Amino acid sequence: MPENVPLDFLGDLRRTHSCGQLRATDAGKRALLMGWVHRRRDLGGVIFIHLRDRDGVSQAVFHEGTATEVHEKAELLRSEFVVAVEGTVELRSAETINSNIPTGEVEVVVDKIWILNESRTPPFPMEESVDVSEDARLKYRFVDLRRPRMQRNIILRSKVSFAIREHMVHDGFLEIETPFMTKSTPEGARDFLVPSRVNPGMFYALPQSPQIFKQLLMISGFEKYFQLVRCFRDEDLRADRQYEFTQLDIEMSFPQQDQIFAVIEPLLKKVVALAGGGEIETPFVRMTHAQAMHSYGIDKPDMRIPPFYCVEDLFGEDAQLTSPGLPLVAIHIPNVGTVTRRERDELKAFGQERGLRVYDDVKRLDKDFPAEMAKVRERVGCKEEDLLIVCGWSGEPKGQRPEETVLMACGQLRLQAAQKYNDRHKLLDPKVYKFLWVVDFPMFEWNEEDSRWVAAHHPFTSVLDEDIDKLTSDPARCRAKSYDIVLNGVELGSGSIRIHRRDVQSKVFTAVGFSLEEARKRFGFLLDALEYGAPPHGGIALGIDRLVMILAGETSIRDVIPFPKTAKGTDLMCDAPSEVPDRQLRELGIQLRKQH
Ligand code: ASP
Repeated sequence: MPENVPLDFLGDLRRTHSCGQLRATDAGKRALLMGWVHRRRDLGGVIFIHLRDRDGVSQAVFHEGTATEVHEKAELLRSEFVVAVEGTVELRSAETINSNIPTGEVEVVVDKIWILNESRTPPFPMEESVDVSEDARLKYRFVDLRRPRMQRNIILRSKVSFAIREHMVHDGFLEIETPFMTKSTPEGARDFLVPSRVNPGMFYALPQSPQIFKQLLMISGFEKYFQLVRCFRDEDLRADRQYEFTQLDIEMSFPQQDQIFAVIEPLLKKVVALAGGGEIETPFVRMTHAQAMHSYGIDKPDMRIPPFYCVEDLFGEDAQLTSPGLPLVAIHIPNVGTVTRRERDELKAFGQERGLRVYDDVKRLDKDFPAEMAKVRERVGCKEEDLLIVCGWSGEPKGQRPEETVLMACGQLRLQAAQKYNDRHKLLDPKVYKFLWVVDFPMFEWNEEDSRWVAAHHPFTSVLDEDIDKLTSDPARCRAKSYDIVLNGVELGSGSIRIHRRDVQSKVFTAVGFSLEEARKRFGFLLDALEYGAPPHGGIALGIDRLVMILAGETSIRDVIPFPKTAKGTDLMCDAPSEVPDRQLRELGIQLRKQH
């Protein structure tokens, strides 16, 4: 930093234009711009500055000959200094026009300059092309957020939030707030707790979602609720997971499932168009959970890649390509071309680690089962240049739904193969948006740790009318009135039609192993409310971070959240979490245990 930079006061200076605003039609006008020094080129007698604000970049020129004092001051400027410049807008000569920036036809020939603030040398350059470690970006987030990519992402996020609010309000929804300091809510993660000073030994929980409150709002007669709301879940962090994340939370009274879909589809159509993703087709594809498992081996299929096919019926009993009673699956990835031995081995090992018997060399299958394999190719629609892998199961069936175990392993192999060869088939194009509803999820999931069924969505979800008897007799096959919205293999949101009758709610609590006493303790207020004229209701929540991440073409939600945590849950900028003074703990009645 140059020594003794004389700083100026802002006084009553006002901007006349933003740095992205000036055009050829402004030539001859006076302009006063304020912003950051993005780039500085000193050619001796003349200095060029790229001045940047949120709106863009303008070139300011300082001539030694005609504005000596101003030129002298411009010599002091460094990257990220904050300045105001005033001058005349002039057309650039044809050979100096910069077609990379919208203001590139003009420049401001400066005759007054104010240095409003200096800056230490930034920890990394502002240019997008420079690769910077994420730790440095998070530590100096206030600088990182100035970079064009992050500006674009955060501005997009703001526009998406506004479009959502506008859409919801026009559709008759009310935005209603719900508390952050509350009681544990059942989304299946660990809670963040807040100790109560005035009730020593007692804790609030931060909401994992406003689930119970939005149901109560339906019972209170508000009919159509939404909220752009923060949710808190203490889970291991990943590229698409933070402790706190934002949902578009929705609840409606008297809805059919398709009425909920009819709120979401036009909304997503709007935000995709807003993000420059063009016109997406509605209504979205709908698929049952069973179909998704059967054709994709996952409950959030990426529809940019073709499905796989079960083909065990095409082979005789004695073919013995898979364990008895379990599926044989043909995975097909188009346009892969020649696959080397090593690549095949890698895919094979990936499948085997997941319990699959992988027939990576289909030529051998072709030889042993020519007629059958011809039918496989026909069913799959496989061409010469496509990759075809056939998979069975080796060994004993596994899990409560063994067929599903096999299909899920095949689903992982399908995705792995698709990702591995994306540079050849280019199917995973981030600008192609394939939305999909997955409906009729299983009501329960088996929890290995506790050896019991748990609610697959949450325990307030209705059962399909025809499966109500299976609640206790056959929980593995009991389906729920629940649905997910999926975009390019990412679960964007989920919801359900809720239980609105106290007797059914009690039955579901019993099915997931809550004693009546425990249910009363945790959700007694909801059970009470269900006895006071609860209308049929249902809703959904969409993950805004994930949505904006995909629309921005990013692969981590950290790049669309202004101040995210690292994968270890720390905020490198504010240095949180941190220890607190003993006095504060004493006030809360908290004594720390020794960590082992
Ligand atoms: N509360 C649910 C969730 O956060 C969404 C819903 O059922 O509406 O996933």
